[in-house]
Amino acid sequence: MRKIEMVDLVTQYQEIKDKVIEALSEIMDQASFINGPIVGTFKTNLENYLGNQSIIVPCANGTDALQIAMMGLGLRPGDEVITPAFTYAATAEVIALLGLKPLFVDVDERTFNIDYTQIEQIITPKTKAIIPVHLFGQCANMEPIMEIAQKHHLFVIEDVAQALGAQYTFANGTYNKAGTIGHVAGTSFFPSKNLGCYGDGGAMITTDKDLAVTLSKIANHGQTSLYYHDIVGVNSRLDSMQAAILNIKLPYIDRYIEKRQKAASYYDYLFESLEQIITPYRASYSNHVFHQYTLTLQGVSRDGLRDYLASVNIPSKTYYPVPLHLQKAYNLNGYERGMFPVSESLADTVLSLPMHTELDEEQLTFIADHVIKYCNQAI
Ligand SMILES: *Cc1c(COP(=O)(O)O)cnc(C)c1O
Repeated sequence: MRKIEMVDLVTQYQEIKDKVIEALSEIMDQASFINGPIVGTFKTNLENYLGNQSIIVPCANGTDALQIAMMGLGLRPGDEVITPAFTYAATAEVIALLGLKPLFVDVDERTFNIDYTQIEQIITPKTKAIIPVHLFGQCANMEPIMEIAQKHHLFVIEDVAQALGAQYTFANGTYNKAGTIGHVAGTSFFPSKNLGCYGDGGAMITTDKDLAVTLSKIANHGQTSLYYHDIVGVNSRLDSMQAAILNIKLPYIDRYIEKRQKAASYYDYLFESLEQIITPYRASYSNHVFHQYTLTLQGVSRDGLRDYLASVNIPSKTYYPVPLHLQKAYNLNGYERGMFPVSESLADTVLSLPMHTELDEEQLTFIADHVIKYCNQAI
């Protein structure tokens, strides 16, 4: 059996190795490292993949994408931004960096995504935006979130870093790719994401042409034309080598997603009768692209299971052990333990198992056998 990795990028690379080396060698020959034509090609290809007349503005990473999105929407220090308490820190980090105020909302215990029923009650006249995060690869419930945003004149910034390629279905049966529903979205091409490059990379997605122009200006030092700066920007670019790699990987994205879904279904099947664990919930309004396969444990120790799996060379990880309202850096509102009980409980009970495109049935069975063994001993 091949060694089990949390994410196996080495095996995935073998299939595209020749294409990657050829593409990188071409860029070296041309020495066109920044803003090369390949960045434009990738932009167009990703726009075509996402559809819905989306416009892509590439940038240096997913964190920058969220920051530039907020700058582009004109959010000002003191403005409030609503975001889930249970997510990766980057979302709250850029809110704080821009002098904005994060207002946290608890998550739904089944989907791990923002509980939209708790949004309206915390909106104040200073609230300007909602950032739903499509955590672990499944869309937040966008339709009611968009309705609340419209009613209160708020912007919606989708954090699609973990869910590129996921699809949201509206009540009337139409569907949109994640990242093309809100006013703007930020995504990441960090190597372990569902569409990953071989370094840092990111992009913004919007259907608003004017906003796209502003976003690309901000990402390039606020330049209107060379050496003319109308607005304050940042230096955040996707380099040509990463764009070339992404261009090679983009045609595989649906196949990669299918492989993740197949692994997830097999895990589901193996865990079917185990009452100590809850397998990932499938919402009716979104498919799941399984950036992570995350279990919720009931009555067994999460850390005990993690240590046991490590002892038999099975990696597993806790995303995320501390909800944002209890992180020192982002607790700007005097939040206390007990205020977001679902987020707090998930932080203690979730465990993500190996999930990537290269898992085979032998590995999945080995992992599941050990999870089951631990759960049955621990009760
Ligand atoms: C990865 C990630 C980011 C940040 O992306 P980087 O490219 O690492 O900066 C933001 N939000 C979420 C939910 C993520 O998973």
